[in-house]
Amino acid sequence: MVLRQDLSSLLFNFFLFRKSPGFDDYSVTEKLKDTPVNFSRIRCPLCRWEPRASSRWFCGDTVRHDGCGTEWNTFDTRGRCPGCGYQWKLTDCLRCFGCSPHEAWYENETD
Ligand SMILES: [Zn+2]
Ligand SMILES: [Zn+2]
Repeated sequence: MVLRQDLSSLLFNFFLFRKSPGFDDYSVTEKLKDTPVNFSRIRCPLCRWEPRASSRWFCGDTVRHDGCGTEWNTFDTRGRCPGCGYQWKLTDCLRCFGCSPHEAWYENETD
């Protein structure tokens, strides 16, 4: 049925949209760290969700960047896509879907 095809295509587009950060022109300079990632010090600034090593982000299309489709843990690379090398400045929360500067996810080490 045509109706069913339209519905699944709509759901697919919605899924891609939710995984895409949407905009990325936040200017933060950051360096890759060689040390292993301590995920217990990483939280969503908005809802306090803690990502896990198994959490996955998606390199999707934005106004400024053609996504390469890679899925990876963005905190393993401090926001850099391992597929195309693009440095993501903003990170979506996989729980509340809020968008925050990548650096804001790291708990202050001196607190
Ligand atoms: Zn990419
Ligand atoms: Zn959140």
